[in-house]
Amino acid sequence: MHHAIIIGKGPAGIQAAIYVARARLSAAVVGLDGGSLREAARIDNYYGLAGPVSGAELQRAGEAQARALGAAFVDGQVVGAGFADGGFYALTPGERLEARTLLIATGAKRAKPPVNGIGAYEGKGVSYCAVCDGFFFRGKKTGVLGYTDYAVQEAIELSAATADVTIYTNGAEPEFSGSLKKEAGAFACVREPIAELFGDGRLEGARLRDGSEVRLDGLFVAYGVAGSADIAKKLGVALTPEGDIATDRGQATNVPGVFAAGDCTGVFRQIAVAAGQGAVAAKGMIAYAREK
Ligand SMILES: Cc1cc2nc3c(=O)[nH]c(=O)nc-3n(C[C@H](O)[C@H](O)[C@H](O)COP(=O)(O)OP(=O)(O)OC[C@H]3O[C@@H](n4cnc5c(N)ncnc54)[C@H](O)[C@@H]3O)c2cc1C
Repeated sequence: MHHAIIIGKGPAGIQAAIYVARARLSAAVVGLDGGSLREAARIDNYYGLAGPVSGAELQRAGEAQARALGAAFVDGQVVGAGFADGGFYALTPGERLEARTLLIATGAKRAKPPVNGIGAYEGKGVSYCAVCDGFFFRGKKTGVLGYTDYAVQEAIELSAATADVTIYTNGAEPEFSGSLKKEAGAFACVREPIAELFGDGRLEGARLRDGSEVRLDGLFVAYGVAGSADIAKKLGVALTPEGDIATDRGQATNVPGVFAAGDCTGVFRQIAVAAGQGAVAAKGMIAYAREK
């Protein structure tokens, strides 16, 4: 078991990893890619830069610094998270990590998938968390909206409640990998895009673009990469009314041991802020991990 799992290797996650590693605690950083910094061509408003650098350069330098200090890095998407004995776990397609404390530093929240009616049926058949809500769909006809390993993991969670689970990729090519690619074979997979959801008050089905209709009691959204709100829901972490992760001044969430930092908290979205919040979160995580 690690002392800290850090989800995200942007400025918030890396800065936190640097503090945790320098406190001689073990940090496992799981990151899919360079996050927002990948898209930033030129940064010159961050402290200490002799001249403009690209976001990718800054991310690489931060990651190298954290690695040199002893932080472990796992490349890939976190597709599931929850409580483990004495702490928390995070699942990637190939690995299960456990730690006493966990940081969500997954960057800005993601847009909802482009399916007509999805907002209208939230809580009325549309869910964002199979572990949380799968129980309510025991023996029912369900779908998972998604095309990555995250969708497969949600389908697996859901299959504990019902045998009727279909993955709807909404027109996207499936991007299933590793052992989850094999497990995806257990589920029907429909690639035809969903034109709209329908139902009288509650979700009753989906109309596909080719004109056909499928009956659905529940649709679990796991579209693309699991975002901060998806991970938060699995852990019971409260969100703000805007859908960002709610934290106190120490970056602690409402769940003891779970912290959040950076763009996912909805505060002024800048590198300096993300790094600062990462440092504050690490202070709390170090204290929490040492106490446990
Ligand atoms: C085009 C552009 C230009 C910008 N220019 C500037 C600038 O000049 N100055 C400035 O201060 N700020 C700038 N920003 C903003 C800055 O990039 C962000 O505020 C900062 O990167 C936020 O850091 P973060 O660590 O919170 O998130 P991010 O940097 O977005 O990192 C998020 C991390 O989480 C990972 N992740 C997400 N979901 C998962 C998952 N399910 N499993 C595993 N990993 C996951 C990502 O792969 C990534 O590693 C710019 C942003 C953009 C888009």
